[in-house]
Amino acid sequence: MEVSGDREYIYSSIELDRYEGQVIEELKASSQEAIPDPDEWLEEELERNILLTTVDAIINWSRRSSLWTAMCFPACCAFELIAVEGPRFDLSRFGMEILRASPRQADLMITAGTLTWKMAPNVKRIYNQMPEPKWVIAMGACAISGGIFRSSYSVVPGYNKIIPVDVYVPGCPPRPEALIHGIRMLQRKIAKTPVVPDLPELPLKGKRR
Ligand code: SF4
Repeated sequence: MEVSGDREYIYSSIELDRYEGQVIEELKASSQEAIPDPDEWLEEELERNILLTTVDAIINWSRRSSLWTAMCFPACCAFELIAVEGPRFDLSRFGMEILRASPRQADLMITAGTLTWKMAPNVKRIYNQMPEPKWVIAMGACAISGGIFRSSYSVVPGYNKIIPVDVYVPGCPPRPEALIHGIRMLQRKIAKTPVVPDLPELPLKGKRR
């Protein structure tokens, strides 16, 4: 025991130094060889699990598995869309639970509700501000054709009059299962879209006439 001022220590500073030196010497003695690379198993795993695919397939897989929806809920179909986002139907399964308030971070517009001509310029502006590639699902009779309000002077008879629509989901309102089916159809469409456009044929050099 060592006494320093009015405090008592169980171990003296010399004992602590000696113990620390002993630990270091033991570690030095047992650490002369490099520890084997813990990722050695990786080589074997790679040999057994290499997956070959195309650029189109991998890019389209990532695009269709992370669709982010721009907010566009002008009328009552919105409640079915909100239900799809909830825990029962769980849109997170498709990597698309995030509703983006900013169109610049969205690549999908689900048009859930009646559109009036007064609102149309704003919806078109939101669509234009979304970056490419982008897609649109017209949800419900009003989004497809104006629905029961079709003959009204103030209602747009279908979103496809102002923006291009990829998938139509009928119903008034469509049930959440129907919307999920529409989303699955859009995913299939994205999967088939060529990412790299066909290049024009180059003229062959020295081609005989
Ligand atoms: S389709 Fe029916 S539920 Fe949907 S916005 Fe129109 S009236 Fe409302």
